[in-house]
Amino acid sequence: MDCIFCKIANGEIPSTKVYEDETVVAFNDLNPQAPVHILIIPKQHIPSAAQINETNSAVVAHIFEVAARLAKEMKLDNGFRIVNNCGDDAGQTVHHLHFHLLGGSPLGLTFGSAE
Ligand code: AMP
Ligand code: ZN
Repeated sequence: MDCIFCKIANGEIPSTKVYEDETVVAFNDLNPQAPVHILIIPKQHIPSAAQINETNSAVVAHIFEVAARLAKEMKLDNGFRIVNNCGDDAGQTVHHLHFHLLGGSPLGLTFGSAE
């Protein structure tokens, strides 16, 4: 399958990984929208949040655990944002489930909102 985030997960495409375990990978976004902009993805190919179901939802809970741990490591003590874009109207450009972890400065209210 020609999926860029599957290739990042298996090391075929380079990325700046900040965390990895058996089920998830976290790496810096190529086009950061904030001082800290990390993408957290399941290693399993799930196209979007619309395909989360009772058999695969545990990885989402795990992603939020990893997000909290990374936020602490990155010293985002003043706050952070977790964003998921699902589908075309939300502007999802990579069709492998991913959560943006953003922080490091006041974020404003525009990320992910309709133009
Ligand atoms: P979304 O619009 O929610 O689908 O976000 C996709 C994100 O993936 C964007 O913020 C891109 O900058 C980021 N991105 C795309 N390709 C790469 C890559 N090879 N390495 C890191 N981030 C990427
Ligand atoms: Zn994939």
